[in-house]
Amino acid sequence: MSELLSVRGLTRGFYGVKVLNGVDLGIKAGSFTGLIGPNGAGKSTLFNVVSGLYRPDGGEIRLAGEAIGGLSPDRLVARGLVRTFQLARGFPKLSVFQHLMLYGQGQSGESLAAALIGSRAGRDREAELAERALGIARRLRLDHVIDNPVTALSGGQKKLVEIGRALMAEPKLILLDEPMAGVNPSLTEEIAGHLVALNREGITICLIEHDMGLIRRLCAPIIVMAEGRTLVEGSFDEVAADSRVQEAYLGRRH
Ligand code: ADP
Ligand code: MG
Repeated sequence: MSELLSVRGLTRGFYGVKVLNGVDLGIKAGSFTGLIGPNGAGKSTLFNVVSGLYRPDGGEIRLAGEAIGGLSPDRLVARGLVRTFQLARGFPKLSVFQHLMLYGQGQSGESLAAALIGSRAGRDREAELAERALGIARRLRLDHVIDNPVTALSGGQKKLVEIGRALMAEPKLILLDEPMAGVNPSLTEEIAGHLVALNREGITICLIEHDMGLIRRLCAPIIVMAEGRTLVEGSFDEVAADSRVQEAYLGRRH
């Protein structure tokens, strides 16, 4: 498998404190990669930099071979790189449908303007997006709440909306930051099922998750981060048996 995402020597600090200390990693096209590591290892920060939320201080990020470091989130989404957040975000008054539409619209900046001036192309695009939003809502079993405000949804349904928003972008790579955190076991299974299905359809996935049972079941390979660096990569059994990984987790706990 070729590398869809390549990160080399990536650094980022905040107020003089280095959080990413030269991260090197590759995510293979088509993989369901797990990203683990003790709290504070820099996993979310890595996603924040790779997805364009924060600028890197140094190093290189490539998507399908093209340098993408420093590009805005919108541009990265247009290239098929999307991420979801640890805590589902949302605009209080918008419905599930409006949320999905909003994210789809971001993909082609001209479409909203075109729709506003009532052009044929704009209307066609709008109808296409609406169709897509409905399909995604159905797939994620959100169709019965599609007109409800996102704020009225359960925590688990909000997580599904996050995934739905990512799917509106027709992603190649989805970075998921603890999409099952705080979700009940049956919804966790449902989300896991969606992710496995999306991966089988060809979407590359990188999952941050602290539940090792889920990581073991879903992910290969697994990349371990500690103190702003990648420590090891391998199968679950390989990384679990690695003394450096055990030390990183234990060292943090004491
Ligand atoms: P992880 O997701 O692996 O638990 P994070 O990437 O969230 O780790 O955090 C790594 C370190 O970076 C933490 O010490 C955190 O406080 C710090 N950090 C992350 N984002 C910021 C920020 N915007 N400003 C200051 N410090 C930050
Ligand atoms: Mg985190």
